[in-house]
Amino acid sequence: MGPSVEDHAGAVRALRAQYQALPRSEPVRLAKHTSNLFRFGRPDTGPGLDVSAFDSVIYVDETERTAQVQGMVTYERLVDETLRFGLMPLVVPQLKTITIGGAVAGLGIESSSFRNGLPHESVLEMEILTGDGRVLVARPDNEHAELFRAFPNSYGTLGYALRLTIELEPVQPYVRLRHRRFDNAAACFAALDELCSTGRDGDARVDFLDGTVFHGRQMYLTIGTFTDTAPWTSDYTGQEIYYRSPSRRPIDYLTVRDYLWRWDTDWFWCSRAFGAQHPLIRRLWPSRYRRSDVYHRIVGFDRRHRLSARLDKARGRPPQEAVVQDVEVPVRQGPEFLDFFLGEVGITPLWLCPLRLRDPVPWPLYPLKPDDLYVNFGFWSSVARRPGQAADFHNRLIEARVDALGGHKSLYSTVHYPREEFWELYNGPAYAAVKGEYDPDGRLPDLYDKCVR
Ligand SMILES: Cc1cc2nc3c(=O)[nH]c(=O)nc-3n(C[C@H](O)[C@H](O)[C@H](O)COP(=O)(O)OP(=O)(O)OC[C@H]3O[C@@H](n4cnc5c(N)ncnc54)[C@H](O)[C@@H]3O)c2cc1C
Repeated sequence: MGPSVEDHAGAVRALRAQYQALPRSEPVRLAKHTSNLFRFGRPDTGPGLDVSAFDSVIYVDETERTAQVQGMVTYERLVDETLRFGLMPLVVPQLKTITIGGAVAGLGIESSSFRNGLPHESVLEMEILTGDGRVLVARPDNEHAELFRAFPNSYGTLGYALRLTIELEPVQPYVRLRHRRFDNAAACFAALDELCSTGRDGDARVDFLDGTVFHGRQMYLTIGTFTDTAPWTSDYTGQEIYYRSPSRRPIDYLTVRDYLWRWDTDWFWCSRAFGAQHPLIRRLWPSRYRRSDVYHRIVGFDRRHRLSARLDKARGRPPQEAVVQDVEVPVRQGPEFLDFFLGEVGITPLWLCPLRLRDPVPWPLYPLKPDDLYVNFGFWSSVARRPGQAADFHNRLIEARVDALGGHKSLYSTVHYPREEFWELYNGPAYAAVKGEYDPDGRLPDLYDKCVR
């Protein structure tokens, strides 16, 4: 059972007192056990704010199809609670320990984003501890509407969401998957555009849509449709591996819970790097450790201690540049971006996920255009650097191409823009106005400093 409304109010009072007592000389940071950020450069310094009392669902309102949730509740816990009522959040990011606060302040996406937009677009109100120490309720229609609108993509630099009211939608017990194969990008993106605009795949409704590119002649779109019954269900939490299934099983069925976490077990395909996909190691690897947060910790340890980098050097291998990014490009530019990416960067597989804003008005700090259909490209690996190439050569190449194509880049990983370019892309004037209003003394870090420096 989650905390009562009164318990939550008590936790807020205690957190506020904790915040007031923190030294003002250094920027504040969240002290949390898990993170899905991909910046391992510097260990966290500065006083930590203990938010462990904010990790639960307060209640689900089945009739209204809403939930009251605390800001640091993980989607894993949130989904477990809502599925008991036959409901789910409108967008469930694929990694189990992503929290609602992280997905709202740092953006999130999933295969329902072509019809439901991004996670922050189904938030009705937020209780926020602001940088200047107030606790207030921000809604799209109250005196804190500007804070509400600027919160997505602010990465905890304006304040921390402590409680949110979110919309939910009904589910059916199973999801039927159809993997459609394409051997060229033009046909693949044209089909994706059509599936999103019609919401139909023949007789079937398109409830979910994403895709995987293995190389320029092998790509799949995966259409998910809710069903009440299933002739069988697959299980990709054991020996089988989900991302390999499109070529083997053109039609497939998963329980709704397994569908929502289909990418978590192998962190998309990234568990390969740890040997977790080798049949023998997989058998020995306890299933409770086949999870994205476990892999994230391993990578964090490796990066902080530079283990792989030292090993590469000792073996005489070229230095690697980590290229871990999610970018959005308008769908009509999809083939061009893919062609560029496969030619100049060459990481495969890539994840594709269409999205269209749900709200008719753009969100100031991540100004995607309402009505336009975008495709998110996710790629999470590294590339060998050739002699003379700068340490961020490929990342800068990608940033430049995304901008040239009218796209945007998420800020959860490394960011390489110079300051002026960054503020042009992420709406510096809007950010400065809200920062001045809610964190005038800069107790929380500035967005550019946090993401880039
Ligand atoms: C390999 C990889 C793949 C990814 N793929 C996807 C994907 O497909 N879909 C997707 O949606 N996302 C994806 N992400 C990104 C992920 O959603 C973001 O990193 C998200 O911000 C992480 O949320 P978290 O809850 O783990 O937050 P944390 O990592 O703990 O924090 C993220 C940021 O949000 C701030 N923050 C956290 N909680 C709050 C709060 N309550 N209020 C205000 N600010 C807060 C923190 O200060 C921090 O700056 C991916 C990340 C990786 C590394």
